[in-house]
Amino acid sequence: MHQALQNKEFKMFLQPKFNLKNDELVGAEALVRWQKPDGTYRYPNEFIPLFESNGFCIKLDTFMIEQACEQLRKWMDDGLKPVPISVNQSKILFLDKNYPDNLEKILDKYNIPSSLITLEILEGIASDDLELLKRQIDILHSKGFKVSMDDFGKGYSSLNMLYQLRIDELKLDRGFLKKVPEDDEKRRYIILRQVISLAKKLGIKTVAEGIETAEDREAVIALSCDYGQGYLYGKPID
Ligand code: C2E
Ligand code: MG
Ligand code: MG
Repeated sequence: MHQALQNKEFKMFLQPKFNLKNDELVGAEALVRWQKPDGTYRYPNEFIPLFESNGFCIKLDTFMIEQACEQLRKWMDDGLKPVPISVNQSKILFLDKNYPDNLEKILDKYNIPSSLITLEILEGIASDDLELLKRQIDILHSKGFKVSMDDFGKGYSSLNMLYQLRIDELKLDRGFLKKVPEDDEKRRYIILRQVISLAKKLGIKTVAEGIETAEDREAVIALSCDYGQGYLYGKPID
């Protein structure tokens, strides 16, 4: 993995995120791909869990921040309007006490405003020390970064977390769009509608992940979700 990082085998792909109301591009998510020397790709699910347990994610996620900054710099230098890039950040990196300062240093290096970087964390991060997490989010906010809670609804999402953490965005797990029996579907919509309404009242933007069909899109629009991401709009591209 160290060799691969040195050899630039890790590539940043970007998946667009759209405003569901007017189809305007509002951002992109950086997703890592490991391109082997023979040209084939390895996907994050095959290596991120390992890198999380052996600590290499600290290096890889930092590298992805750099890649995002490099891309933003390029857009700006080419006279293109940049859109914010969301970068997935693992728990050990996000909770490190030097993390906010280190982030700032990287952005300074590329002369990128922090408003163009959103940090995505998984809901599981909120399981331990909520106070520590809350403080870190506050520090990151004071530096101008936005924080997004990814895969909401996949694990044990707690309402406690929603009110205590000042997150900017909630990404609803694509499991919410999976086919289920009609009876469950009705109940699911009741829950989803309320979660989205709660988020709105708390000033949190909502993103529906995994929009694959026009039907999915209609469903999340009906729920007043703000943004959408998925194969219907665009796959991750290099
Ligand atoms: P995620 O952050 O929730 O990213 C969304 C995943 O859903 C991506 O998978 C994306 O390719 C996939 N996806 C997007 N639209 C659709 C759709 O319409 N249908 C379906 N079936 N899938 C869709 P990917 O790229 O394989 O990444 C998987 C997970 O790996 C990510 O989930 C994220 O948690 C993690 N990951 C990716 N890149 C990084 C990284 O640089 N650092 C860390 N720590 N984790 C990463
Ligand atoms: Mg994500
Ligand atoms: Mg997700």
